[in-house]
Amino acid sequence: MTGSSTRSVVIVGGGTAGWMAAAALARFLPPDHRIRLVESDAIGTIGVGEATIPALRIFNHMLGIDEDAFLRATQGTFKLGIEFAGWSGDGSRYTHAFGTIGRALGLVPFHHYWLRAGRPGSLWDHSAAAQAAAAGRFARDHGRPDLPSGIAWAFHFDAALYAAFLRRHAEAAGVERIEGRITGVERDGETGHIAAVHLEGDRRVAGDLFVDCSGFRSLLLGETLGTAFEDWSHHLPCDRAIAVPTARLDPLSPYTRATAHPAGWQWRIPLQHRTGNGIVYASAHLSDDEATARLLAGCNGAPLAEPRPLRFTTGRRRAAWVGNCVALGLAAGFMEPLESTSIHLVQSGIARLLEYWPGKTLADADIAAFNRRTEAEWLAIRDLLILHYHANARPEPFWQARRDAPPPDSLAERLALFRANGRILREGDELFTEVGWLQVLIGQGVQPLGHHALADAIPPADLADFLALARTHAAAVAARMPAHDAFIAAHCAAPVSKAA
Ligand SMILES: Cc1cc2nc3c(=O)[nH]c(=O)nc-3n(C[C@H](O)[C@H](O)[C@H](O)COP(=O)(O)OP(=O)(O)OC[C@H]3O[C@@H](n4cnc5c(N)ncnc54)[C@H](O)[C@@H]3O)c2cc1C
Repeated sequence: MTGSSTRSVVIVGGGTAGWMAAAALARFLPPDHRIRLVESDAIGTIGVGEATIPALRIFNHMLGIDEDAFLRATQGTFKLGIEFAGWSGDGSRYTHAFGTIGRALGLVPFHHYWLRAGRPGSLWDHSAAAQAAAAGRFARDHGRPDLPSGIAWAFHFDAALYAAFLRRHAEAAGVERIEGRITGVERDGETGHIAAVHLEGDRRVAGDLFVDCSGFRSLLLGETLGTAFEDWSHHLPCDRAIAVPTARLDPLSPYTRATAHPAGWQWRIPLQHRTGNGIVYASAHLSDDEATARLLAGCNGAPLAEPRPLRFTTGRRRAAWVGNCVALGLAAGFMEPLESTSIHLVQSGIARLLEYWPGKTLADADIAAFNRRTEAEWLAIRDLLILHYHANARPEPFWQARRDAPPPDSLAERLALFRANGRILREGDELFTEVGWLQVLIGQGVQPLGHHALADAIPPADLADFLALARTHAAAVAARMPAHDAFIAAHCAAPVSKAA
């Protein structure tokens, strides 16, 4: 007898979410737990989701995955941030770079000194990651173990290859894969909990805890348990995407690009074997044909496959954990990939599930805490996405409407704090750091009127030196790095393969 009431775990779905969950649960659950994953090759996976944020390194590390082996297996590249082009009108650009910008002095974050000095140069002159990204350079360190580089990095990878990589990992750790289409879900007559899933061929897979990773369909949490979907499209009205691969672009840029267009935006993700491209748009403002034409015109090469359309509604299920069912990935909800957050939400959902892993009984208090923290995390990410749309300076009707739409109260509060004295509100275990919010606020043109009063304590000559030192450090770190391509060639070049 173990302390857990959930020794038999059934994961429904084998996309990125399903295999991430399988690999992590196999790593951390006691050995008497049985983990099975049901997926259907006939249904397939969403097949997109190729840009990440630095927290994924923690996930891979937790699983004991070697970074270079992972990049070789997934045709991966390094990512130092996201370049946002055109969000304040064509020709404008800024970076949401990972890592630090300058350094805090005492209690006061760096940017208040920059604001006090009248914003000399650009904010990103003080970010080593932004400098390296702009120069197409990358290294995990800068050859000076005595000095922090201030950079953090994430990855771009081929989504199908990542799921396959994790599958190998999870199966080696004991996860049983069951191939087949689920045709029915059986519920316990008394509790209403999920008792089993039924597969074609008259097969039944019973379990104690079900992890719904079934994608947009939300087979268990949505369809079976009827958990309501909270629609956020009034805040984030883009509802379609089209994805298309093109040839590899040389040199490989160490960042994702997100370029605004008249009714949404377009992504570019550099991989070793190809470039991932996609357009995200609001169907009320752009037809599918126009979107396809715009996507192809914005690509740097000929398509390697037919453009693939995808439809979505932005929002989330009101509760991600109901009874003995926990949803991860698209089954729990979706926000457009503007800040590459979906895979991270899978990761943090898994971490939280492990934190609240059921004991002898399923405790309502555990489930409520899991759901409350999940909701808070989603809302903070949602607000950062809305900020990109709300604080835009583009002329088209779609963008004017986004500017005019009132932001949610939570974002309005963040904006008011920043506009007054450059303060950044960050609560609980919110994902984005102060520096992340700062870059999007400044990059989108939100102007603070003042700065932190304590930043006035430093004499003007010292202030100039302090800022100059931060600029010099950022430039020096970037200059010591090799070209991104050269770093990949030296450490993690994937075997040459046909572009997918
Ligand atoms: C346009 C777009 C771009 C994106 N870009 C990014 C990005 O850059 N970064 C990022 O972090 N995220 C991104 N995402 C999100 C990311 O793709 C997903 O979060 C991630 O792939 C997880 O998907 P999933 O595993 O939940 O769903 P899916 O990949 O859809 O997997 C669902 C699984 O359920 C199985 N299944 C469904 N029904 C049944 C059934 N009846 N029987 C058996 N099996 C079944 C399927 O076979 C499949 O294995 C993007 C999403 C979209 C739509």
